[in-house]
Amino acid sequence: MEFSIVTSMSKRKPADLLILPFWQESKSVKGAHSECAQFSKLTSESIKSGDFSGKEGELLVLYPDSLPEKRLILLGLGNAKKCGLETLRRTFATVTKACRGKNITSLHVLVPEVTNFSEEAIAAAIAEGMSLASYYFDELKAESLKEDKMYRVQRITLLGVKPSSLAACQKVETVVQAVNAARDLVNRNADQVNPENIGKFAKSLEKEYKSIKTTVLTRSEIEKNKMGLLLAVSRGASCDPSFSIIEYKGNPRSKECTAIVGKGVTYDTGGLNLKPTGGIETMKCDMAGAAAVLGTMKAIAALGLKVNVIGAIPSTENAIGPVSFKPGDVYPSFSGKTVEITNTDAEGRLILADAVAYVEKHFSPKYIIDLATLTGAMVISLGEEATGFFTNDDKLGKALVESGDATNELLWRMPLYPEYKEKLRSTIADLKNWNGRDAGSCVAATFIQQFMNDTPWAHLDIAGTAYLSKPKLYHNTNATGVGIRLLVNFFEKMEKN
Ligand SMILES: [Zn+2]
Repeated sequence: MEFSIVTSMSKRKPADLLILPFWQESKSVKGAHSECAQFSKLTSESIKSGDFSGKEGELLVLYPDSLPEKRLILLGLGNAKKCGLETLRRTFATVTKACRGKNITSLHVLVPEVTNFSEEAIAAAIAEGMSLASYYFDELKAESLKEDKMYRVQRITLLGVKPSSLAACQKVETVVQAVNAARDLVNRNADQVNPENIGKFAKSLEKEYKSIKTTVLTRSEIEKNKMGLLLAVSRGASCDPSFSIIEYKGNPRSKECTAIVGKGVTYDTGGLNLKPTGGIETMKCDMAGAAAVLGTMKAIAALGLKVNVIGAIPSTENAIGPVSFKPGDVYPSFSGKTVEITNTDAEGRLILADAVAYVEKHFSPKYIIDLATLTGAMVISLGEEATGFFTNDDKLGKALVESGDATNELLWRMPLYPEYKEKLRSTIADLKNWNGRDAGSCVAATFIQQFMNDTPWAHLDIAGTAYLSKPKLYHNTNATGVGIRLLVNFFEKMEKN
């Protein structure tokens, strides 16, 4: 999506569509910008007749013959007092969706005036909603059914705003490009996005950005590093595991860094504890944590944020083969602790255990944040609406929750009670990896925690939010790229402090 601005209404050129925003008031409809008044001849009849009420997300298309634009859309933003940035993302996303299949390539947007928000923030939210909603995934469709014949909006011009608002939109577009790259990785076939190709993507970031250095450990290097749990999970797979380490130095003068770790199980059959029908079909999405890390690294490097971040991705398939790792057997971890496997489908925590221990040892990060489609229990707890997260550090937790609220990638804090550790007690190993369904998400988080020292850490269980069962808001496909917008916001705040 390409954004531009014109500073005054009178300077606008011809376009396919003009969007005028309106508030819904108790007994009337009110223009959400003072310039709406100049269109009253065109809009008053629709409002008087009750055809348009200004309700949030409501659209009415008109065909005026007196404007530079071929069409006019009256867009309802709902009640002015309740309007937040998320309202703008959602309502403007409905316009992008309404343009699908129509002959509309260029849009004009009269940017609403919303109390309590800067013009830049308002413009950015509109751009974000429209751009996120224009993503489609059609690589696997027949040529004649490709979506790019449907989504043709290419240029969006914001009317009556300052150049700083254009900069805000362009920044949003940079982040959305990274979100889309992550969405592609998750939506693609598992055989295409295997551990080797995850490593290749990580390596491509090094070529694209001078501020990034990528190291991809192959099987033999993973063996040399004694990452025993990653190796155990990978045993049944026909492809080798990989461990990608992406170092971004945006602030070379500082020694401080944050590590973000993403689960990269490129297909999760469950292993010998095979998943049943109904539980297996979406399991190519089990690398969505890895995609979030790759997308975040891409976004922060493209934006040139002045922070230092290490992205780490343990990646493997959890498949079944003659040498699959076995329930009941004990495997060594990178940290030295041994683990009794009580369920091969609890594999994400195993590869994360090795990865967090590795980054803590080699980089001594200030924070470690991991993202993983970790537990079905989290989907039961919070659905597709929020990511459950765990942390041993209140300050880190607060900062993450605020970033979740700002981006609407909502976080809900779950407990790490010491009692959960009891559930991981094994009689033959240092700990076991699974203890039944009770408090499944909490026990999984507690397991990961056992492989680090006291580094402030947060674990985001994105099992419900990474891959939707049906389109929602500005997400037209399953993969959402969740975590990227949240972490970019988090690192922007870090940059300012
Ligand atoms: Zn699993």
